[in-house]
Amino acid sequence: MENTDFDLVREKISQPSNILITTHSNPDGDAIGSSLALASYLKKKNHSVQVMVPDPYPDFLAWMAGHEDILVFSNSESECVKAIEQADIIFAADYNNLGRLNDAAGFVRRSNAIKILIDHHLVPSDEFDYKISISRISSTSELLYNFIEKMGDIHLVDKNIAECIYAGIITDTGSLSYSCNYVKTYQILANLFQLGIDGEHLHRLIYDTYSESRLRLLGYSISDQLVVLHEYHCAYIILSREDLQRFNYQIGDTEGVVNYALSIKDINLAALFMEREGIVKVSFRSKGNFAVNTLAAEYFNGGGHRNAAGANCTTTLEETVAKFRQILPQYQTMLKSVY
Ligand code: 5GP
Ligand code: MN
Repeated sequence: MENTDFDLVREKISQPSNILITTHSNPDGDAIGSSLALASYLKKKNHSVQVMVPDPYPDFLAWMAGHEDILVFSNSESECVKAIEQADIIFAADYNNLGRLNDAAGFVRRSNAIKILIDHHLVPSDEFDYKISISRISSTSELLYNFIEKMGDIHLVDKNIAECIYAGIITDTGSLSYSCNYVKTYQILANLFQLGIDGEHLHRLIYDTYSESRLRLLGYSISDQLVVLHEYHCAYIILSREDLQRFNYQIGDTEGVVNYALSIKDINLAALFMEREGIVKVSFRSKGNFAVNTLAAEYFNGGGHRNAAGANCTTTLEETVAKFRQILPQYQTMLKSVY
C-alpha cells in the first residue's frame, strides 16, 4: 500500500518553520543522502533546518553538502533533545517506525511537532501525522526527488542536492544491481547528471576509500569466517568483537561484506552476524523472491526490504547464529526454487 500525502505536506511546509530531519540508526548512504538532500531543499524554502542521526555514520559519507552540521544523538544528547523540543515539524527519512531512532525515539514520540514520514519500507507505523511511503522505488533519495517535484520545486534541485540523491540511489541499489528495475530511477539519474554531478568521482568517494585494515577485514571475513551451507542455498559470516578489534573496526567497515556471501552461485540467502556492544547486529540479503524482511521480522524482531533486511539482537553471538541455523530447514524448499 502506498501513502501519498503530498498535497497535505505541501501545505504544512508552506510557511517557514523549525524543521528537524531524523533518520535511522546505523545510517547508510540513503539515510544520509535523503536527509541532507531534504535539508538543503527545505533551507532553500527558508525553513530553519537541523538533521539528527541516532549514532555516527561512516566516513565514506562525510562529503555530502551539510554533513558537518549533522547532530549525532549518541554524541551530543542534550543538544539533540533541545533540537527535538524546538521542532515544529519532524521528518522521518528512510525508516518506518520511531523505534529505529534508538535512544532518541522516546523524545521524538513525546514531541508535539507534526511528524512526516518519507520512506520506502513496507508497512509504515501509525506514529506519523502524514506519510509519503512508496515501496516500489529504489530508495528514499529517489522518493525525495519525486517529493520535491510534487512540491512544484524541481527548479530548486541544485548540484549539491543532486549529489546527495545520487549517493542514496547508488548505495541502496548496490550500484544499480538490485531494487532498480524501474525506468523512473534512470530518468532521475539522467536529470541528476544534467545538473553537473560527476558520478564516477562520487562513486569513488563512496567505494574506493577503504583503509588497509578494512580491506583486510573483508579478506578475513571471506577466507576464514564464511560458512557455506549448500544444501540450504545459504552462506553466512560471523564476526566477533575480537575479530573487529583485531582489524581496528571503524563504523561502516563491514558495509557490503554480506553481499560477497550472496555472490556465490546458487546461494540465495546470506547473513552477516556482527558482535557489537551488548547486541548482535545481523544483516540479511537474498536473491529474487525470497523475502528476508519477513524472516528478520518473524524471528529476529528486525525488518527491512525483500532482499535486504537487518536486526539487532540481544541474544549472544552463538545463540543468534544457532537460531538462524535452526530456522533454515523450514525454508529449504523455498531457497531451492528462488526466481
Ligand atoms: P543493513 O544490513 O545494511 O544494516 O540493513 C539493511 C536494511 O535492513 C536496512 O536498509 C533497513 O531497511 C533494514 N534494517 C537493518 N537493521 C534493522 C533493524 O534493526 N530493524 C529494522 N526494522 N530494520 C532494519
Ligand atoms: Mn533506504
